[in-house]
Amino acid sequence: MIPISVVTVDDEAQQLVIEAMRTGRLAQGPMVARLERDFAELIGVRHAVAVSSGTIALVAAMQALHIRPGQEVITSPFTFVATLNAILEAGATARFADIRADDFCIDPNAVAGAVTDRTAVLMPVHLYGQPADMTSLAPLAERHGLHIVEDAAQSHGARIGDRAVGTFGLGCFSLYGTKNISTGEGGLVTTDDDELADRLRLLRNQGMRERYMYEVAGHNYRLTDLQAALAIPQIARYPEQVARRRHHASYLSMGLSDVPGLVVPHELPGRTHVWHQYTVLVTEEASMPRDQVVAELNANGVGCGIYYPRIVSDYACYRDDPRVIPADTPVAAKVATQCLSLPVHQHLLESDLDRIIEMVRKTLGA
Ligand SMILES: *Cc1c(COP(=O)(O)O)cnc(C)c1O
Repeated sequence: MIPISVVTVDDEAQQLVIEAMRTGRLAQGPMVARLERDFAELIGVRHAVAVSSGTIALVAAMQALHIRPGQEVITSPFTFVATLNAILEAGATARFADIRADDFCIDPNAVAGAVTDRTAVLMPVHLYGQPADMTSLAPLAERHGLHIVEDAAQSHGARIGDRAVGTFGLGCFSLYGTKNISTGEGGLVTTDDDELADRLRLLRNQGMRERYMYEVAGHNYRLTDLQAALAIPQIARYPEQVARRRHHASYLSMGLSDVPGLVVPHELPGRTHVWHQYTVLVTEEASMPRDQVVAELNANGVGCGIYYPRIVSDYACYRDDPRVIPADTPVAAKVATQCLSLPVHQHLLESDLDRIIEMVRKTLGA
């Protein structure tokens, strides 16, 4: 079986975890500080604040911005449910804007139509490793006086021109087990704003600047030094790993772009895709429906996934929630029925890629 994701912990990471254990500093300490420095440097931003998950990164970002109940956050309906859950956890209301089919990210035109006098935050999701169209979205947010909170959980190091995602507003990254950089569980918030970084650090640690000197009502959002140690060597090697993912993506596209009924993904001009996922669309012209393609591929040793099978607002648990404002998002709804992600990770061999291409072609009769 060629798995859709592989997690390895190399010798260097093991050594660093042992080092952390030997010092006895298990909770947040010097390893977390080192991770924050290294990650800030990778992104090209003044501050990176490590927290316990990507979901918490989003919640903490909205708390740092003092988002209040009744205020609205415009986001993509085609995302992992954490995006929506974080908005609700922060006490805000979610309003959806449709996506574009070429980048799977929020459509600036749809955002413009979703702004109300209650909108406080624009939360684009940089899905699968490709940045949302920040060249249009950033000025749009500016024009309407909106904060930008980027859900960059899947897009560490992705760029628009030479500017990394996570530098357009508060950047929220995940270090969950299957993400491009992983500590099992963990997250980071990035910002160039000294004051917001300071508030995030306070919120993370029960509102304390010094022990028992409480300045705000905070929480425990801390990451442990054991977790941070796992990510430090991954950051050093990250550019090389992204290069491998990029190579795999172009190899797959070369082998698959002529298959009838299959739309391969593209890195859009001016954007740098970090290929967290390689997601194709199985259209009506395909010889077989998407779900059957998935079953065939899985049965034939090609691990694949559906990210995501439905738009997030389309679940019973949100349907009657007045803080989840449904919207007509036909592109997102359609993409959810057609998307299929194939393995693209850095551990694939050329023989794996050949096998993936062969099995997809065979399954779709090409
Ligand atoms: C993984 C993910 C999150 C949540 O991150 P966790 O670290 O799992 O809490 C949020 N948004 C998106 C788009 C994600 O893929």
